[in-house]
Amino acid sequence: MPRIIDPHVDAMIITRFKSGESTRSIAKGLGKSIQTVYNTLERGGVDLKRRSVSEKQRARLIDLCKRGMSVSRAATWSGMSPSTATRVIREYRHSGGALTLQKGRRERRPSSSILPASREAPTQQTRPPLFYLGVSIDWASHERVVDVPLFISFRKLRTRRRLPDIATHFALDSGGFTELQMNGRWTISAHEYAEKVRKMISFYKSKLMWVAPQDWMCEPIILAGGHVRGVGRFIGTGLTVEEHQTRTVRNFAELRAEVGDRVIPVLQGFHLHEYQRCAQMYLDAGFDLTQEPVVGLGTVCRRQATSEAEVIVRALARDGVRLHGFGFKKTGLIACGDALVSADSMAWTVDARYQPPLPGHEYPGPGRSRGHARCSNCIEFALAWRDSLIARLENRKRGRHLE
Ligand SMILES: [Zn+2]
Repeated sequence: MPRIIDPHVDAMIITRFKSGESTRSIAKGLGKSIQTVYNTLERGGVDLKRRSVSEKQRARLIDLCKRGMSVSRAATWSGMSPSTATRVIREYRHSGGALTLQKGRRERRPSSSILPASREAPTQQTRPPLFYLGVSIDWASHERVVDVPLFISFRKLRTRRRLPDIATHFALDSGGFTELQMNGRWTISAHEYAEKVRKMISFYKSKLMWVAPQDWMCEPIILAGGHVRGVGRFIGTGLTVEEHQTRTVRNFAELRAEVGDRVIPVLQGFHLHEYQRCAQMYLDAGFDLTQEPVVGLGTVCRRQATSEAEVIVRALARDGVRLHGFGFKKTGLIACGDALVSADSMAWTVDARYQPPLPGHEYPGPGRSRGHARCSNCIEFALAWRDSLIARLENRKRGRHLE
């Protein structure tokens, strides 16, 4: 039987291969067999042996190997497959380059690696991640949320002449996804953002735990634009992933200078080697992410069901980055919660849309003047959802300790 070929998947395989990703990683990320990936590349006329390696990638690979990293690990950090890396190293030595490879020894961290951790990197958090519940600003002053850390969008506060009371600790999201979806760029400058954030910090004081920067997400739809059912139209920024990363890092540097430590860095990218490149960009700008108490992880939330998302989370956590997962869903949190220090979610509203209301919520009751058919905008549902999530995360933790 002839195989059905999806041109979209074909194009994705070829683009990812040309951007330097290994065939194995592509296969895993897309849930295809390696053979399918090879077939597609052959059909697309891609020369498997002569994959283009940029001068920068080549220099980084050689540098990492010289500092004692194994070829296969240095390959990942340089965004190429192990076999391409082996070829590059062979060619380098043939042309007279001096390089002693570390063989038969346990790999040690290079003296100044991409993320020079000065402390032992935790591979697993000892506690479940701190969970910030995403809710409507109208509930933020509600007495029922007093002990619940909240996740509040800058977009909900930026237009308020008087800032509303918030009853608990919270983290401030920049609302970048909506901003880029609707405008294809940030319509507020770093300076204006900083000014507003400074006002919020002086109003909320220590209740405002941290502030996300004006980052640039890297989903293909954010870059290229298009239409997603149920989400709407995306203008598209028309920029590359690298440009999004450059702007993200530049914005963070500006905000840090203007606002201080309350602003956290956010890693952006799409594939693992791109996130690693982003970490390098931060380092080049003078920010060692392993020294930051929280580092946001962008562009993962809409694909947590994939193994690639988990690979990215675990690889970065292993290198000592304390990650906050933006917009994680229950399954994503349960899968990699042990590699995150914190996470936020509004996924309860989606769950509520497909479920009958809580018992009695069809009718008016305490805290609701009218009944509702769905609990998708219901504080009691949100809190119950949060309780069950935390219980599952703690159970998983306990289970791990018993193993
Ligand atoms: Zn309800």
